[in-house]
Amino acid sequence: MAAEKTKAIRIARTGGPEVMEWVEVDLPALGPKDVRVKHHAVGLNYIDVYFRTGLYQQPMPGVLGMEGAGVVEAVGEQVTYVKPGDRVAYAGKPPGAYAQVRVMPQDTLVKLPDAISFEQGAAMMLQGLTVQYLLHDSYAVKPGDYVLFHAAAGGVGTFACQWLKAMGANIIGTVGSPEKAELAKSYGCQHTILYRQEDFVKRVQEITDGKGCAVVYDSVGKDTFLKSLDCLRPRGTMVVYGNSSGPVDPVDVGLLAGKGSLRLTRPTLMTYVHDRSLLEPMAADLFKQVIDGKIKVEINQRYDLANVVQAHQDLEARRTTGSTILLP
Ligand code: NDP
Repeated sequence: MAAEKTKAIRIARTGGPEVMEWVEVDLPALGPKDVRVKHHAVGLNYIDVYFRTGLYQQPMPGVLGMEGAGVVEAVGEQVTYVKPGDRVAYAGKPPGAYAQVRVMPQDTLVKLPDAISFEQGAAMMLQGLTVQYLLHDSYAVKPGDYVLFHAAAGGVGTFACQWLKAMGANIIGTVGSPEKAELAKSYGCQHTILYRQEDFVKRVQEITDGKGCAVVYDSVGKDTFLKSLDCLRPRGTMVVYGNSSGPVDPVDVGLLAGKGSLRLTRPTLMTYVHDRSLLEPMAADLFKQVIDGKIKVEINQRYDLANVVQAHQDLEARRTTGSTILLP
């Protein structure tokens, strides 16, 4: 029997946005624990850039994309989490979300509540679940904590500002432009720093009366890591979770002693979404925040999936804010 086909964004080699091609690909046969999902919306995330450039590896040729929302079309005989007709959403490995239809393991799929649209689902799963674990598990934020959040107007950043505000934190957000500062403020960020112009260490010390922050969440990586350590109070926690400016150089752990018995962690969402005992309560918490209106899922950019080259160019040039979705 001839394989079923779908349109997808595939790469055959790593490189710039131009390596992404809108082509017809064969859908793999449905394995016993696989699910076929028809996407209604697909999420755009910075991790897609890492897979495209080769910083992170995936099999070649391969379809990019880590997040989507849609309807279950078919399930393998051992699938237990979802059934045909269910509205679902997911974030996580393996890549393959940049497609109209995909076959994927059931592991990361969760049912989407009726109150949440497909577009919201595709915009919130990866960034929202990330913020869920960052604020509760990487470091448990307490009311009154000073928190430095880099790239506060980005996808993860705008979820973080809203959730931190709901938790009663004092939020200091770095942003790349005055327009982004206004946007971050509208999501609850009390203090913004234009870190491309201002010395963010000095500004954090001023804002915190020289005490420093309880935690720094740093997804920028190479450009900000060392300075971020100087924004922490003694025994503060440094959470490095991304590489938007490039990966952090190897670290001399003695630095952590010299700067005040600091804690350092480098988490990834993949650890969480591949363990159902973690994923299900995290997804339930995220959905509750959204349904209760504490977190608004606003989609600031929409592109046709076929036009993803433009979407990557805008993301890497720091032209996007908040969440972005791709329409298949
Ligand atoms: P964003 O929407 O936040 O886009 C990235 C932002 O980073 C830019 O808009 C820009 O904001 C800032 N930035 C700083 N330096 C650079 C640079 N040299 N090039 C490009 N951008 C730069 O993306 P996402 O919300 O998708 O992801 C944010 C970060 O979180 C990424 O690093 C991503 O890898 C990481 N992440 C990690 C996860 C994990 O579990 N470990 C899960 C999800 C995301 P500005 O102009 O304001 O500086």
